Amino acid sequence: AVPVSIMVGTGRGSEMGVLFRKGDALQSLAVVEVVAFDKTGTLTRGRPVLTGLVGSEEDLAALAALEAYSEHSIARAIVAGARDRGLTLPGAEGVTARAGLGVEGQVSGRSLRIGNRDYVTGALSPEMEQAVADWNAEGRTVLYAEADGAVIAVLAVSDEVKPEAAAVLARLRQQGKRLVMVTGDSEAAAGAVARDLGIDEVRAGVKPTEKAGIVDALRVDARVAFAGDGINDAPALAAADVGIAMGSGTDVAMESADVVLMDGDIEGVARAIDLSQCTMANIR
Ligand code: ADP
Ligand code: MG
Repeated sequence: AVPVSIMVGTGRGSEMGVLFRKGDALQSLAVVEVVAFDKTGTLTRGRPVLTGLVGSEEDLAALAALEAYSEHSIARAIVAGARDRGLTLPGAEGVTARAGLGVEGQVSGRSLRIGNRDYVTGALSPEMEQAVADWNAEGRTVLYAEADGAVIAVLAVSDEVKPEAAAVLARLRQQGKRLVMVTGDSEAAAGAVARDLGIDEVRAGVKPTEKAGIVDALRVDARVAFAGDGINDAPALAAADVGIAMGSGTDVAMESADVVLMDGDIEGVARAIDLSQCTMANIR
């Protein structure tokens, strides 16, 4: 009777946009106690927009020239923001992406970099400090840009929380699940989204290489599902008892996951858990 119930459950799942890549995920999900989420692209749409700039448009164009080489959603926001302002991007050379930090390279004879606070060393002007404080309070993601070791600009990007996210998390909490956010973004940006969604536990500023270790640590005393979309989520998806990838995300994430949610609809997390509980109740 076991295989039949699993087959039926798997079939029902695919009708609801929940693809079980491995049959045993239906069993494991029924007993999951912790659900951990990546933020960008998983709880949020992952399509950030450039919404703040303290710095010159000329420098924005140069920074966009670097970001044109990056696949990161923040990079796309900065390139689109420069193009929307009608700026022409100059040529860039020797561009290197640094996972979890940002990108660097040469533009017009200057060494430029753009990324998070840890990636720049120079001091901010008072005007920049003020803008950063305001943006952090609003939960925007702040980027810092440097030329030859001096800060030349600060920028903000904003990403919308997925419309279905709040209801899904409320339902999981009602079911007694412990909810955790694990993100490479700053404490401030992560905290604002977590407060919106009622997530008490936030691990922010997490390096791509650290995500799987956090999942392992959670697994010491609980069964853990991890939901994510990015290349940097792949190890955490593989480490979790049940890895849940967004179908809107990267191929690497989907290949590392046990469950794939079509269209990245995170209501699928709650549906998948409900379905696994029904399936296991039938078997017992
Ligand atoms: P996440 O997708 O969870 O935000 P990442 O590890 O991809 O985590 O990135 C962590 C942080 O590093 C980002 O929030 C951003 O501040 C910075 N960063 C990474 N890549 C870029 C990039 N191409 N341009 C600007 N900042 C970047
Ligand atoms: Mg992500």
